[in-house]
Formats: sequence, structure tokens, C-alpha cells
Amino acid sequence: MQAWEVTVSSVLRALGAEGIKRRFLMFAALATLIPSVSTAVLSYVQNRRALTQRIAEALRAASSQGAREVDLWMKERLYDVRVFASSYEVSENLDRARPGRAGVAVRRLGDYLSSVKERFVDYQALIVVDRNAVAVASSAAGSARAVELPADWVAQARSRDAIVGQVYWDSTAGRPLMTLGVPVSTSDGRFLGALAAKLDLTPVAASLASFAAEPSGMLYLVTGAGELVVSSAGADRALMSRRIGGRTLERLTREGRGPVEYGNHEARDVLGALAPIRRLDWAVVAEIPADEAYAQIARLRTLTLVTVLLLLVVIGGLAYLLGLTVVLPLGRLARGARQVAGGDLTVALPVVGGGEAAYVTEVFNHMVTRLKQGREELERLSRTDGLTGLPNRRHLMETLEKEARRAQRNARPFALLMIDVDHFKRYNDAFGHLAGDDVLKRVADALQGTVRTADYAARYGGEEFIALLPETPLDSALEVAERIRTRMAEEEFGTNGSRVTLSIGLGEFPTDGATPEAVIAAADGALYRAKEHGRNCVVTTRTLLTPVQVEGTPLEPPSAPPTVSPKTGAGPTAPDVKPPAQATGRKRKPQ
Ligand code: GH3
Ligand code: MG
Ligand code: MG
Repeated sequence: MQAWEVTVSSVLRALGAEGIKRRFLMFAALATLIPSVSTAVLSYVQNRRALTQRIAEALRAASSQGAREVDLWMKERLYDVRVFASSYEVSENLDRARPGRAGVAVRRLGDYLSSVKERFVDYQALIVVDRNAVAVASSAAGSARAVELPADWVAQARSRDAIVGQVYWDSTAGRPLMTLGVPVSTSDGRFLGALAAKLDLTPVAASLASFAAEPSGMLYLVTGAGELVVSSAGADRALMSRRIGGRTLERLTREGRGPVEYGNHEARDVLGALAPIRRLDWAVVAEIPADEAYAQIARLRTLTLVTVLLLLVVIGGLAYLLGLTVVLPLGRLARGARQVAGGDLTVALPVVGGGEAAYVTEVFNHMVTRLKQGREELERLSRTDGLTGLPNRRHLMETLEKEARRAQRNARPFALLMIDVDHFKRYNDAFGHLAGDDVLKRVADALQGTVRTADYAARYGGEEFIALLPETPLDSALEVAERIRTRMAEEEFGTNGSRVTLSIGLGEFPTDGATPEAVIAAADGALYRAKEHGRNCVVTTRTLLTPVQVEGTPLEPPSAPPTVSPKTGAGPTAPDVKPPAQATGRKRKPQ
């Protein structure tokens, strides 16, 4: 046998051994688990995907809106600076101004720059530099005049329409600043220098704040190298010293559409998305803490698990109850069947509800009733004589045993009558066995009709009967025996009026025998004497008989009171038939 076959058969055996109840439970659990778990897992996966998408979209929306806003703001500022720089006042006076010399041109330039700065609050300072990046005039005095332009600013000024300078924290102003420059040329295209503006980036932080995802999402303005400039939480010096790592920045740039999970500058796990700012080489990065994003997914997972468990408990419980309605009647039936198998036929199972289980229970009860009836009938047949309907010898002996015990217990004697049909063989021979059977039935009827209700009559065997008269002394029993004998003697049989006589021997328990067998033997002895003395008479164990008895002569006891019941009239009559040539019968019987 293959290993898998062994496994399958042992599982099946185990299932069978565990019984139908366990199988019901397993079925309920499977029927509940399979659909609910698969539905729950499917909905969990879909919800998780939807949730992740929602988070991704929120991050994307925040970063791209932020980027668009910064781009727009930057565009406006560039436009401003370009307008300032294109003023005739700037190019004319820069052209005229001589480095290191304070002249009218320089003063006029300074006045112009101051007046512009006053009207545009986003500019911390406006400075005009010459071709060598030397400041010619400024809107501010002292060190504020200094401006650092990138090394390639001339190239940038000639090739591009704007020079993007450094971003730094201005500790004097307490703000993040950015240098922005545009070239200054004469109307005929001669390059003169540049107008540089120190741009305050604080307003960017404010506009980023309006796009950050609630409740703890953040937006950052990030330079092309990953340096943080301002965030939606505001601008501060510490932030500007932080940066996004090169690898993270690369991932963010590459997977701009989806959220990227990484450790941010505060070493916190976040989900982020990046949107580039087209006008600059910069970007806006939107972040939300990973635990916050996953908290929703964890809540979803818990909800799914709780739903599955609840389903399992409720549907499983219902299936279990439903199973009980089948299992309980089956259990009752199994117990009932065991009782019946053990021989107890008193079982009657309760029929609960309707359906197949109730029907099977009803059939079972009916079957048990029929079995009981059958057994009772068998018992009745086993103790009844088939011909006469009287109790048979077996039942007689049991009854005698009981009666003997009872008589001993109560110290009350009982009388036993041994009744034998006279010359029955001859009768059979003359009229046939069927007629003989009829005689036996008539004797049985006569017996039953004569004895009292408390008395008992049985067929001992052949044409012999025994009657038991409880609590009856021998002299009273003698009267009963005589009544029986007389009655039978008077009955006519067949169409020709043939008659049948009985001989009866009487014994008394315990006087004549202390056991059933002994008292039967005593009565049989009396019966023998009755035969010996001519038949058709009643003889007790105490009857004294004359040695020779003439047939038809009443049997007289030698002394009064008589204990012999003689037949009056014609005396014992043999059947009115011719006796057979060789009459056979009991060896002991006198012919
Ligand atoms: P006795 O007066 O000495 O008793 O003579 P008897 O012929 O009655 O006695 P015996 O014992 O010689 O014969 C008894 C007969 O009873 C023999 C038998 O054929 C008959 N017999 C026994 N049982 C039945 C029965 O069930 N039906 C019929 N028809 N005859 C039976
Ligand atoms: Mg006999
Ligand atoms: Mg006989």
C-alpha cells in the first residue's frame, strides 16, 4: 500500500471513529472558513491596494501641487527681477558708473534699488554688479551689499535668462535667502553686469503648509543635491543643514509616481513622493509617517480578522445546533439499539420534532414493539400445550417449584390431582386419533371449568393432566376431583354417545412429598391404585382399599370418613367399544 493510501485510510478511520458529531463540526468549520476566509482575504487585499493607492495619490497630489505653487512663485519673482533689471535706469547708470568711485550714476542706481525693494517685500536686498561681479550699488548698506554669485555666473548670465545662486540662512535677517540674478545689457546688447536679488524663501514655507497631507504629512522644498530648504512646518536654520540621501533622492526621482518608503532626515520611517520644479533644478517632496499610513492597513487587517472570527463563531454555532438536531436523535437511536441488542425490549424513544430523524425513531419504536410482541408470543407458546391450550409440562414444573416454595413459606399445604383418561388407547384405536384429540380438549375444558380461579391445571403428557389446588387440604381437593370425574363421566362424545371416564390420584404437599417430584410420585401412586381398583374413581394417598376391587363397585374406605370418591350408579364405564385383542398401556396399570 502506498504511503498516501495509508494516510487517507487512517484519516477516514479517524473520522469514522470520531463519529458523526465531529464530522458535522468539521463540515461547519470548513463551510464557514473557506468562503469567509477567501472573501475576507480578497477584500483585505483589495482594500489594502485601494488604501495604498489613496496614500500614493495624496502624496502625489501634495508634492505636485506644492511644486506647481513654488514654480509659479519663482516665475513671478524672476519676472519681477527681470523687470527691475530691464529698467533704463539700471543699464544707463551701470554703464556710466566707474568701479570704486561714488558718482551720480552709483547714487541714482542705489536710489532706484531702494525704491524697488520698499515696494516688493519678498526681496531682502537688490544689488547691481558689474562684469567682474563687483557690487556697484545696493538697496542696503554695509555687508548687505556683498553678494556671492556662482563662479560661472557670467556664462549663466549669457546663456540663460537667470542666474540661480546659493541658498543660505541669513542669520541677520533670520530667514532663508536665495540669490537670483538676471543679466543687465545695453539696448544694443552689450553685457554690462547683473542685477542680483536676495530672495526671502519664507513665503514658500507658508504656501507649502497649505498642501501638506493631514494630520502629520510634510512637504519639503529640496535642492537638486537633496538639501532641504524649507518645509511646510516653516523655515529654520537646522533644517537647512539636513539633506535627503543620494540613494533615496534617486529612488524618489525614479519612482516619482508611487510612494517610496525610506528613513527621512529625522531618522523616521516615512512614505514619500517627489515632484520636480521645472523652472529650477529643485523638487518638492511630500512625506507621511509610515506607521500612520500602515495604521489604517493594520486597522483593516484587525477588522477583517474579527469579521472572520465572528462569522466562524456565529455560522459554526448555528451549524453545530443544526447538527445536534440530527446527532441527538441518532445518539438516542444508537443507545436504544444497544439496549435492544442487550435483550432489553422496554425501550421507547421520544419522538421529537418532525423529519427523517422523527420518522426513523417512530419506525424504531414500532420495531421494538413488534419484537416484544413476538417474544411474548414465543414465551407463551413455549409454556403452552398446543392441543389443549393448557400450560405444558415445563410450565407445570416451574409453577410447582414456585408453589412448593410458597407453601413452605406460608406453611399452607396444596393438593395435587393426577388425572388420567381411562382406556384411552382403546378409544383412539376405535375412533381414531382426531376423536382422541377432541377428548383431550374436552378434558382440558372440563378441568378449567371446574377448578377455581386460584387453581392451576396443566397437561402433564399424553392423556395425563395435573391440577394444583393451592392452600387446599386433601379432603376439599377430593371434592373437586370428584366433580371433575363426574362431569367427564356424564359427557357424551361423538354421534354414538360414547363416554370417557377419568381416574384421579390425589397427593398433598408436603405431607406426601416435600418436593414437586415427590408429590407427583405420590399422586401417581394413588392414580395407579385407582386404575388397579377399576378406574373411573378418585383415590388419595390415604385411601384404604380392599385388596380386590370389582369393576363398577363403589370403592369404600375401610373406615369413615371416606377418602375415596366412588362413582355412583353403573360404576366405571369403559368406552363403549370392543376392547382390542391386545390392550397395551402403562406397564404398571392393571388391565
Ligand atoms: P389406562 O386406562 O390404563 O390408562 O389405559 P390407556 O389406554 O389410557 O393407557 P395407555 O398408556 O396404554 O395409552 C395411552 C394412550 O394415549 C396411548 C396414546 O396413543 C394415547 N395418546 C397419548 N397422547 C395422545 C394425543 O395427543 N392424542 C391422542 N389422540 N392420543 C394420545
Ligand atoms: Mg396414561
Ligand atoms: Mg389412560
